[in-house]
Amino acid sequence: MTQEKKKHYCEVCGKEITYEEYENYDGMCWECWDDQLTEESEDMFGDFM
Ligand SMILES: [Zn+2]
Repeated sequence: MTQEKKKHYCEVCGKEITYEEYENYDGMCWECWDDQLTEESEDMFGDFM
């Protein structure tokens, strides 16, 4: 077993997150990650309009 045991925190809001969240969401919690995705897609829509 090589799974990380140390704690991880969201880089954006500082909330404690699991190692899986840390890996899957670029060091963010899913909420901040989702926020970033939303902002990015809004930018893309802005280009289209
Ligand atoms: Zn967060």
